Amino acid sequence: MMQHYLQFINGEFVNAQSGKTRTIINPATEEIIAIVPDSQPEDVDAAVQAARTAFDSGVWSKIYAGDRAKVLFRLSNLLRTNFNELVTIEVQNNGKPKREAEFDVDDASNCFEYYGGLATKIHGETMQTPPGNFSYTVREPIGVCAQIVPWNYPLLMAVWKLAPSLAAGNCVVLKTSEITPLSALYLAKLIKEAGFPAGVVNIITGDGPVCGDALTHHPLVDKIAFTGGTITGKNIMKAAAETMKKVTLELGGKNPAIVFDDCDLDVTIDWTLFAAFANSGQVCSAGSRIYVQENIYDAFINKYVEACANIKIGNGVDEGIHMGPLVSAAHYEKVKNYIDVGNAEGATMLCGGDRPAHLAKGYFLQPTVFTNTNHNMRIIKEEIFGPVVCIQKFKTEEEAIALANDTQYGLAAGIFTSNITRAQRVLPQLRCGIVWVNYYHPTFNEQPWGGYKQSGIGRELGLCGIEAYLETKQVNINTDSNPVGWYV
Ligand code: NDP
Repeated sequence: MMQHYLQFINGEFVNAQSGKTRTIINPATEEIIAIVPDSQPEDVDAAVQAARTAFDSGVWSKIYAGDRAKVLFRLSNLLRTNFNELVTIEVQNNGKPKREAEFDVDDASNCFEYYGGLATKIHGETMQTPPGNFSYTVREPIGVCAQIVPWNYPLLMAVWKLAPSLAAGNCVVLKTSEITPLSALYLAKLIKEAGFPAGVVNIITGDGPVCGDALTHHPLVDKIAFTGGTITGKNIMKAAAETMKKVTLELGGKNPAIVFDDCDLDVTIDWTLFAAFANSGQVCSAGSRIYVQENIYDAFINKYVEACANIKIGNGVDEGIHMGPLVSAAHYEKVKNYIDVGNAEGATMLCGGDRPAHLAKGYFLQPTVFTNTNHNMRIIKEEIFGPVVCIQKFKTEEEAIALANDTQYGLAAGIFTSNITRAQRVLPQLRCGIVWVNYYHPTFNEQPWGGYKQSGIGRELGLCGIEAYLETKQVNINTDSNPVGWYV
């Protein structure tokens, strides 16, 4: 049934001032499932003004952190009691299989709980300055934070930004992706129910070039936190420079998984399939370049391609589905085009490349495996963000490290080996923010998430995640009553 959702500004659910709307599509069925406001610059302004007023009033930023924690814990619990509704919305809007959406909602609830716990652990330091001074630091929220999230983890990416910023005492304007706004708008209902004061959280649903652009240029915004493509990230940095907004950017990746010949082959096949095809490969940390040591290369390829045939593709609401559709028609075309590019560049496509025969509707694409790739090819260099993986052979450890690092990105990497000494030797040489050894993709609220090189700036999650929403103020108190005596 089609539903009409509203944006959330200053504690109220409202239409766009212009009355403009956009339709939301289920990527598995291509049916319209909802209508949402198409937020315009005047809505952005209303949301930012509401956040500014709330922040400056101190209704959230200046209350006891323990009281902020209680509201965050209530919200965490509300996610649990609304678990099934959120899972259903996420499956319908994003297309991901039910069990992936279940993981996301559970993790989102845990994230609010984690940062609710941290709210009361924010503290400054006392410094050893010369006698006559009492010097310390205090931590303060940054102010109004603009948060822009993508469509691949619509709820979880919103929560990764909301939870630490709110725990630290900031007020926020969150812009969802134009394609996947529904779970964040449902979350807005829970935010209201949890008891956040009006204006502390505002959620708007316009597109990037209009609404996102107005948000990143707004002079009353103090910080921008963005997850999405690297090109958009660069434009956001430029917008931030105008009024020196703080930025954290979580951008793309073209992540390597290095498979050494001493690995447990079956376990490695299992994890590297998950690395490449979880969330239909629409993951910034997807392991989309697999480097396999030459003496197990043929065995690896055979088993990998055989296992791809067992991946059950279909509508995420159905039981037993492993892989859903891509998120939109436009994204399907983009990924399909990369497959054409790979074939034209001379790579060998071992499987996939097309829509599964049994699915006439929906943006479904088979898991696609390329070999005979080299580092001049676009499919090795560029982030495809779909179920497309390149598997390449290497001889030595040094060669594997060089291949892994030969990218503009630096988000994540996987190492598969039964030799822990080798793993320890290789992992410091990988220029990236996340390394998994003998598995791939586990993500913990306690661990900092982010990348080196063009994969971004700053970290989300963990202690780093709350640091990114805090200013540091130094305070010095004169404990000596003598005058300065400079002009005597
Ligand atoms: P974008 O970077 O364009 O979108 C991410 C978010 O930024 C969305 O909310 C989008 O809005 C918003 N946005 C877009 N343009 C602007 C702008 N000028 N100012 C402010 N906000 C803006 O990613 P795409 O959806 O176009 O995907 C492109 C590629 O980016 C993917 O193929 C993939 O390679 C990569 N990507 C990486 C992600 C990651 O997790 N690191 C996540 C998503 C994509 P809206 O969608 O409403 O237009």
